[in-house]
Amino acid sequence: MDDGSIFHDVAVVGGGPAGLSAAIALSQAGAYTALIARRAPYADNRTTALLGASVDFLETLGVWPRCRDKAAALTTMRLVDDTGRLIRAPEVRFSAEEIGLDAFGHNIENRTLMAALEARAAELANLTRYDDEASTVIADDTAVSLRTGNGNSISARLVVGADGRHSLCREAAGIEVTGRELQQSALTFNIGHSRPHRNISTEFHTPQGPCVFVPLPGERCSVVWVAAPKEAERLMALGDDELSEAAEKQSHSILGRVKVEAGRNLFPLAIERPRQFARHRIVLVGEAAHVIPPIGAQGLNLGLRDGADIAEIVRDALAAGEDPGAPAALRRYDFKRRADVLSRTFAIDLANRSLLSDLLPMQSIRAAGLHLIGSIGPLRRLAMREGLAPSWRARPTLRETPADPSREATSHSSK
Ligand SMILES: Cc1cc2nc3c(=O)[nH]c(=O)nc-3n(C[C@H](O)[C@H](O)[C@H](O)COP(=O)(O)OP(=O)(O)OC[C@H]3O[C@@H](n4cnc5c(N)ncnc54)[C@H](O)[C@@H]3O)c2cc1C
Repeated sequence: MDDGSIFHDVAVVGGGPAGLSAAIALSQAGAYTALIARRAPYADNRTTALLGASVDFLETLGVWPRCRDKAAALTTMRLVDDTGRLIRAPEVRFSAEEIGLDAFGHNIENRTLMAALEARAAELANLTRYDDEASTVIADDTAVSLRTGNGNSISARLVVGADGRHSLCREAAGIEVTGRELQQSALTFNIGHSRPHRNISTEFHTPQGPCVFVPLPGERCSVVWVAAPKEAERLMALGDDELSEAAEKQSHSILGRVKVEAGRNLFPLAIERPRQFARHRIVLVGEAAHVIPPIGAQGLNLGLRDGADIAEIVRDALAAGEDPGAPAALRRYDFKRRADVLSRTFAIDLANRSLLSDLLPMQSIRAAGLHLIGSIGPLRRLAMREGLAPSWRARPTLRETPADPSREATSHSSK
């Protein structure tokens, strides 16, 4: 390609947590990588419960050592039926110890995780950052051409669309999504409390959705309170004292006195899945590929697995002298991500629908299911392991691979 473009093996569009981690993984896999992402302070107060292999992945990326001391271990997860309905599920308690782990994972503020990802991305010699937005993305048989808002022209053999829910890359690939807006919103805020959380995450299931208290370091928790949109807006508009009181009441005072910290955000919820995960030299990662409600802390954990998988596929393609954007690599990515994403989306949708349902038979099935999980050890352990990551998934072998300098003449610097 000789049109004045800067040529890369891969271009990642979008610098949220999924895009940054994919860009780091790809450059560590030896790909000359462009990252097209505005540098902006992280704008909300969400936290992420990083489960199982996500922490291992961030460790491999050299990110976890920069932020692990600001994360809280999650050793126990409690599900409490707080629907007040006639048929209620028993309390279910999952303990990491029961499956031989010290913790299911770690809860961390996204802001802190993002700072660690940004710092690591800035260190990598074969990762070129464009502090900009992609304005056009056009794929042809040999490459994808991108233009940025500031007029940069970039070409790549593969584009990783990490540009969130309204993905330009997804549109450029012609990938349709199916899904629906949910009649629920999630209010997020952090609290300080007077009793220790003892690293227990507690999920209260209300008739409008779950309200989860997830440990942070010290005597603090992050709260994700899912409710009908009107109720979520009402909670959002409360004064600090009133919201503290409401949160204490919703938590049944298990954390003692509650005091909300500054900052809240409201997220309308939706569920979305793409018809394909890859098409026309473009693969989708993170919320460009899947949007799920915050139940069971799956969203970004899936997004990190997307990044790990595409990095492994690109590493293997480059090592074999193959084109990382060729149909074979795209088929491999689609195959790897499909079962993982669709099975999680289905399970979470089902759990959410069964909680919201007013139908007695549905409530009975839900209560019986939770009763079985709570009382039958092997079933409970299976649920715990599957909740962390699909058991059939082979762990990506993401060793660091130096970029091949002989490709640098045609990749990266051939302006
Ligand atoms: C209330 C709530 C709680 C959650 N809790 C958890 C949890 O505990 N555990 C978990 O695993 N997940 C959780 N999730 C899900 C998780 O937050 C998301 O999966 C994750 O934030 C998505 O990251 P992303 O990088 O895909 O998207 P985003 O963070 O939306 O990033 C996309 C980025 O792309 C940029 N962009 C868009 N268009 C362009 C363009 N044309 N050019 C360049 N850049 C562009 C945007 O500016 C943005 O920076 C939660 C979600 C919610 C709503």
